[in-house]
Amino acid sequence: MSILEVKDLSMHFPVRGGLLQRVTKEVKAVRKVSFNLEPGDSYGVVGESGSGKTTLARSVLRLLTPTSGKVHFQGKNLAGLEGEELRQMRRHMQMVFQDPHSSLNPRKTILKNIGEPLVIFDRMKGKALAERVQELLELVGLGREHMYRFPHELSGGQKQRVGIARALALRPKLLMLDEPTSALDVSVQALTLNLLEELQEKLSLTYLFISHNLAVIRYVCDRVAVMYLGQIVEEGPVDSLFDSPAHPYTKFLLSAVPSPEPQTNTEEQILEGDIPSPLNLPTGCSFHTRCPVKIGRICETEEPVTTLVGEGHTAACHLCRGDQ
Ligand code: SF4
Repeated sequence: MSILEVKDLSMHFPVRGGLLQRVTKEVKAVRKVSFNLEPGDSYGVVGESGSGKTTLARSVLRLLTPTSGKVHFQGKNLAGLEGEELRQMRRHMQMVFQDPHSSLNPRKTILKNIGEPLVIFDRMKGKALAERVQELLELVGLGREHMYRFPHELSGGQKQRVGIARALALRPKLLMLDEPTSALDVSVQALTLNLLEELQEKLSLTYLFISHNLAVIRYVCDRVAVMYLGQIVEEGPVDSLFDSPAHPYTKFLLSAVPSPEPQTNTEEQILEGDIPSPLNLPTGCSFHTRCPVKIGRICETEEPVTTLVGEGHTAACHLCRGDQ
């Protein structure tokens, strides 16, 4: 059984604008997104800033209530859960945030920061709490001496380890990692990614890994979804998608990633224009306003359907249909 099934998930936000703020428009941040995670998967979601990645993770966790669609976690429909039932389900799905500095309370010791979920959910205290926090610190490669320090006394990498320890406190099964290394120095990024790999194996975790950094996704994940303006435009096994990208947007993203073999580097592509506003989505294919290989009118008027382009590998582009 899948650990997480997301089906046609959409998240739209009303926004007021115009004279006297009377006009209500909708920001379509996530549009009909579907994917499945099996236990132990590392699933990457990649895209530029504003592509809807973080909103997707928050909607899956029910930190935001989706406009439509389904999220099933371990076979249970999260939309049907409220109050205590939803709270208990959240024990098993935790989030690691991008900025380790702002995700910790600066006025609380590391013991209190990591221990907070244990106090709230399990009413743990005293020696039992200190022992569990020490265990969690050791799990992320930090010593007992960090327990009574404050966040400002730790380096960026140590703070992110504390953030990970806190997310692991309730022994979750699924971790959502929202750009967990992008605020860190490059040398610390590699150590943090190695730690995440070790933890996944040791604790049988499933990861939903959100990043704008394709090199990070390739290193950590086994499947990847590419998002553009709230939609998944390409999805598949990491090797297949990186070696044989099908969607012009994926090709553009990959052209900016240096290959370990310099002779295979392709010329970096430049896209025209900025990413359109999600308040005013383009008709047809959302990427047509920037696509360097647009076919013509069909791209401006018809939304491309998702097509199989390889084993377990799909893309939504008219060029992939074979009859174009
Ligand atoms: Fe480009 Fe057309 Fe494919 Fe969209 S459908 S990515 S505009 S070729």
